[in-house]
Amino acid sequence: MSEKAARSDKPDEMREQAHGTLKHTQHLVGRILDSAPIVLYIYDLVERHYVYSNREIASVLGYTPKQIGALGSALFPTLLHPDDAPLVEQHHARLAVVGDDEVLECEYRMKDAKGQWRWLKSRDVPFARDRQGHCHQILGSAEDITDRKGTEQRLRESEARYRDMFEANPHPMWVFDAETLRFLAVNDAAVALYGYSRDEFLSSTIEAIRPAEDLSHMHEALDRARGNPGVDQTWARHRKRDGTLINVEIASHPLEFGGRRTRLILVHDITRRVQAEAERQHSYNLLAKLAAQVPGVIYQYRLCLDGRSFFPYSSPGMEDIYEVSPEDVREDATPVFGRLHPDDYDYIVASIQESARTLQPYHSEFRVVLPRQGLRWRLCHAIPERMEDGGALWHGIISDITDRKRAEAEKAALQDQLAQAQKMESVGRLAGGVAHDSNNMLAVIMGHTELALEQVDPNQPLYANLEEIRAAAERSAALTRQLLAFARKQTIAPRVLDLNETVSGMLKMLRRLIGENIDLTWKPASTLGHVKMDPSQIDQILANLSVNARDAISGVGKVTIETADEEFDDAYCASHQGFVPGAYLMLAVSDTGRGMDRETLAHVFEPFFTTKGVGEGTGLGLATVYGIVKQNNGFIDARSEPGLGTTFAIYLPRHAGKAATAATEGPTEAEMGGRETILLVEDEPALLKLGKTMLERWGYTVLAATTPTEAIRLAEQHAGSIHLLVTDVVMPEMNGRDLAEHLLTRYPTLTRLFTSGYTADIIARHGVLDEGVHFIQKPFSAGALAAKVREAFKART
Ligand code: ADP
Ligand code: MG
Repeated sequence: MSEKAARSDKPDEMREQAHGTLKHTQHLVGRILDSAPIVLYIYDLVERHYVYSNREIASVLGYTPKQIGALGSALFPTLLHPDDAPLVEQHHARLAVVGDDEVLECEYRMKDAKGQWRWLKSRDVPFARDRQGHCHQILGSAEDITDRKGTEQRLRESEARYRDMFEANPHPMWVFDAETLRFLAVNDAAVALYGYSRDEFLSSTIEAIRPAEDLSHMHEALDRARGNPGVDQTWARHRKRDGTLINVEIASHPLEFGGRRTRLILVHDITRRVQAEAERQHSYNLLAKLAAQVPGVIYQYRLCLDGRSFFPYSSPGMEDIYEVSPEDVREDATPVFGRLHPDDYDYIVASIQESARTLQPYHSEFRVVLPRQGLRWRLCHAIPERMEDGGALWHGIISDITDRKRAEAEKAALQDQLAQAQKMESVGRLAGGVAHDSNNMLAVIMGHTELALEQVDPNQPLYANLEEIRAAAERSAALTRQLLAFARKQTIAPRVLDLNETVSGMLKMLRRLIGENIDLTWKPASTLGHVKMDPSQIDQILANLSVNARDAISGVGKVTIETADEEFDDAYCASHQGFVPGAYLMLAVSDTGRGMDRETLAHVFEPFFTTKGVGEGTGLGLATVYGIVKQNNGFIDARSEPGLGTTFAIYLPRHAGKAATAATEGPTEAEMGGRETILLVEDEPALLKLGKTMLERWGYTVLAATTPTEAIRLAEQHAGSIHLLVTDVVMPEMNGRDLAEHLLTRYPTLTRLFTSGYTADIIARHGVLDEGVHFIQKPFSAGALAAKVREAFKART
């Protein structure tokens, strides 16, 4: 500018005037430029310094225009940020060659007077050119854009941060176009999870990762999400590139992305969780199924320190075991405790406490009382563990052991019965043995007494002595007979009987037996079956029971005899101890006497058990009855209460056949005796002698032998015929039956009469005689023997 002015050749005054005008103009322009709110400058590209700058530069860089101008050519490069220098260099180089009306922009940093970097944006045009037309000065404006740059920078930084968060996020994420459903961005985790490359993703839509059958469901979910301005959470199945299906949890956010409506998707792979849950559900179902199958209840029982208790879990079996539902006790166990048997309650509570204290496994057997099932037995096993609150939790099982308990009780009762039966059996054997031996002696005593009596004048004092001996021997014989009856060694001749008829025939004798003060009532059943039994045994039973009834009544009272038909099935017998299923005739004798306590009742059938004084009772009455009933396969039901009387009910098996006609009367005196030959065998010499004497007195010819061998020899030597064999059963060499069989080969029509203290089943099966075999019980009187012998001969003809 100054050069141009210096080249003017106008006259002085004009020059002066002009100079004044110029100055004024310069001043005016200067003021205008200085008032501009933007930095304006002229920069010399060659000299590299500001030829001019307005005042605004001071507010940007902190230097006055004068300071700027004075700084000289080195200024600009030193103030320029080194990183921006190449850019500015380039900018200036372009300005040097562009046309005049070209405006070029450039952004760069300069250091202000305080040493801070300021961002400037300059817009420059070529201003002065040299003769060759190269621009060497530029005219420009500069704007302080430091603030804007800062904002931009922060924006860029935050964008980078977000990009990092997206890219480096461990959760698979993507952005897709809400309209076209195309993937717009996917992160590394998504690429890693799904197996698609980034390019594959970006060239497809989100339908690519869904199984075909889920697509309609997916569109529904998208529609729903569109209406939702917030985060949409959903579950889905996605397909990986290799075809594997995975379960995912998806969070979907609406997002503006490059001016489009998109959604940002966050994926959480929950396949393993879903699988684990499915497995858990599966094993839970399995356990629940098993628990429902197990007889009884499987449960967890929780006892808190404050005393509260409940069943967090119990299987459906709870209904069976306690008749409460699992829901009823889930929060409070009280209903279960209400079912416990009052006698077991304290024991249960105490043992639970004990188990909670020691953490020892819990076992118990206890009773419950249930509304429907009544009294039942329960067995419980449980394992405790300590809980945080100091209480305990048991895992356990309770089962029904009612049947087992009943079986145990039955077994114990049966064992009692067996022990009782065994005791009776051994006592019976003992009694039978004693009776057998004393019988022989009694027979000798009685026989000889009878013989002596015949030879003594009844008016002599000796006769009375002999009578006493016979009476005593007879009482003893009666006793031993009772013992034999009890031992079931009594030999019997059973017949089919009408029980009512047999009892009726005895009433007269029984009335005499019980005396006048006691009323005897007879209640026969209107229709009654038959029994097969020796009638003398019915006599024995009724006599013994009636005498006992009489003895139990002091003063006046009543005895009732009744009969009835009875049938018992298995169920009845299961609940009635001692009863055996089948059809029976009942014969019962009841009295209104003093009755018995349980202890007495338990022993009444034992031989020699008596509560009566010495000489009053032998203790053999009921033992006899017992033996008889057992021998006939029956049983006895005895009931008694102290002060209320007693009933003995005897059950005898019903017989299908008809009653036989009444037994024929024995032979009369006139019929007694005969001429036949008898072979008599007896190993006891005293008895043999006695028997021989007796029989010979009746006129028989007697061959006497003390051993079977001798008997056989005698038989062989004897020329005439032998009509009857009378033999003892039990002998050392050979028993009576074998002897008889031997002799039968020679004398096929030989009649046999056996004598014995007891039969020992040798001639009779279970004490029952075969047809054609005769038997006389030792001891016997001479008359009884003669009658038996005659009876045997009669049967032959
Ligand atoms: P005994 O009559 O000789 O004592 P039993 O065998 O007949 O022997 O009876 C045994 C015991 O059973 C009797 O002593 C008596 O205590 C008791 N007893 C039997 N029958 C009755 C009854 N009808 N009432 C009360 N007690 C009875
Ligand atoms: Mg008696």
